[in-house]
Amino acid sequence: MPLLLGSVADDFTGATDLASTLVKAGMRTVQLLGVPRRDLPVPDSDAIVIALKSRSNAADEAVMMSLAALDWLQKNGAKQYYFKYCSTFDSTDKGNIGPVADAMLDALGARITVFNPAFPTNKRTVFKGHLFVGDELLSDSGMRHHPLNPMTDSSLVRVLERQSKYKVGLVQYDTIVRGADAVRQKLAELSEQGYRHIILDAITDEHLMTLGAACADLALITGGSGMAMGLPANFVRSGELEAGVTQSLPKVEGASAVLSGSCSVATQEQVAHMQKSHDVFQLDPMAIAKGRDVAREAVEWARPKLGDKPVLIYSTAATEQVGAVQSELGRENSGALIEETMGKIARELVAGGVRRLVIAGGETSGAVVSALGVEGLYIGQEIDPGVPWTFSIGQPTLALALKSGNFGTGDFFTKAFGKL
Ligand code: ADP
Repeated sequence: MPLLLGSVADDFTGATDLASTLVKAGMRTVQLLGVPRRDLPVPDSDAIVIALKSRSNAADEAVMMSLAALDWLQKNGAKQYYFKYCSTFDSTDKGNIGPVADAMLDALGARITVFNPAFPTNKRTVFKGHLFVGDELLSDSGMRHHPLNPMTDSSLVRVLERQSKYKVGLVQYDTIVRGADAVRQKLAELSEQGYRHIILDAITDEHLMTLGAACADLALITGGSGMAMGLPANFVRSGELEAGVTQSLPKVEGASAVLSGSCSVATQEQVAHMQKSHDVFQLDPMAIAKGRDVAREAVEWARPKLGDKPVLIYSTAATEQVGAVQSELGRENSGALIEETMGKIARELVAGGVRRLVIAGGETSGAVVSALGVEGLYIGQEIDPGVPWTFSIGQPTLALALKSGNFGTGDFFTKAFGKL
């Protein structure tokens, strides 16, 4: 089967979110980690999402990485391309959404592209070009205090104009409710008038389905994960995608473990829940900093316990404890020390027969998959919204659930293995 949709995502968990959306809408999807090496065999799938870590890089770096990813997808013959960013349009006046979209549009030789970060299920909507988070304008929401990219303007037209060399237009709600043909016609008019970037309103999933249908013929689409919802249906309509075909996923046998480096509130609850009924080992960041081989201690503790019933190794701690560690060791340094330790533990556990791993924390997940040398993941069924089981490409096959901080119910760590 030819590759239908080739996507470039600006961060790791965002890529998984997009991949999971595509799987739910009927596309067999693979997520690749970083710009793939030239000779990586193309995994058999309908969609590929390349996960970059480019959201907060300098704009020219983000452009370079995105173009390299796009080039790989083009060489492998994707039919349509997608650029995925955050549903809160995380960016600054310097980029990176505008510069990356400009560059991808140019590289594809396309005339226009569209922008839509809406994710109604998570209460991100776009009305008259303004992005809302829940009932608040983006600029009134907590995002105005974001440490890396404070969002102080809710008008996506203005935000994008400041970042892009192209004219930015808008297709509003009143056109979208008139259906895909009306949207298509409006896009054609705006294109005639010289607009090359077009913001799209969307308040409901139904609007997103309309927009998906209207964008069937665009070479490049940009958005959050929601905007991709309506795309698989286009390929079914064109006869390129068979409806109802799901990815055949491997059955993974082997011992189970949970590694948790997230300190988010939801993760703290999940750790507390698992502690009641499972063997757990807590990592002490200060001991790691003093040079003790904490990774080895954890693995030696775990080894005799490994089996079907998962063990939990965690550094998860309450805010005050994290604050104390950070003021002693520095925020970045403590984070990096723990991530490195988690990576070592993961490698040793896999060497010792662990094949089914739940990992909590976005950064922690990134550190662990890179320590394990994982190049790509087949995306399976969701455990909780936004967190699917995934299966590593290459040997040995690992089942990995990569959970970003605040996702998942209280019993996530134990429930996940029941869904394999
Ligand atoms: P989340 O998805 O919840 O943000 P991340 O893994 O992305 O989780 O980030 C958590 C960060 O906190 C990581 O860099 C991790 O190494 C660090 N960390 C984990 N436990 C502790 C701790 N006890 N003290 C200080 N930092 C910690």
